[in-house]
Amino acid sequence: MTSLYPGFRYDADKEAISEARAKALESLLIEKGVITGKTVDQVLSYFDTEMGPFNGAKLVARAWVDPEFKKLLLEDCNAACEMLDLPNGMSGAEGEHMRIVENTADVHNVVVCTLCSCYPWPTLGLPPYWFKDPTFRARVVREPRVVLGEFGVQLSDSVNIRIWDSSAQIRWWVLPMRPEGTESLSEEELAKLLTPEAMMGVALVKAKSE
Ligand code: FE
Repeated sequence: MTSLYPGFRYDADKEAISEARAKALESLLIEKGVITGKTVDQVLSYFDTEMGPFNGAKLVARAWVDPEFKKLLLEDCNAACEMLDLPNGMSGAEGEHMRIVENTADVHNVVVCTLCSCYPWPTLGLPPYWFKDPTFRARVVREPRVVLGEFGVQLSDSVNIRIWDSSAQIRWWVLPMRPEGTESLSEEELAKLLTPEAMMGVALVKAKSE
């Protein structure tokens, strides 16, 4: 989750410096009695087990096999969340106003928060390191095709790229295209093909055999 993307040319020790800063902050908060030694672990464990990209993957896989559900997901993401067996609190934890946008043969969507790091936590979990970095936030808006290329996503010039700026009001995420050659897969198998990157628009979904 915290891997750095080499295309953004970070200093090699950037992640180590961030980690040291987070540890120092945690120690200070514990020392001052604001949090306990377990608080951070509990929060991280919550996002490991309850609120993570596995929820988004379930929603997308259902949308791929059920056109009515897909329509609902696109129109009212939170109502669609209510339809599936997902953890309680999907509409809380920064997910009160989630919206999903659909990739097609003509349009490719990418999400960013140009201001800070707004992200649909209930469906995608915590954002990766690079999503919060000013380098990604600035560049994906200015030169999305170049940035996508650095992620290994080569789109034909005929494909329009749309960038969606998440905010405290609306948190965007992406309904990727279902890859060819997956007609025989079950909904569960389809869900396993999905990655957080694909649901942010910086990767395409690939059939396992590719
Ligand atoms: Fe933000």
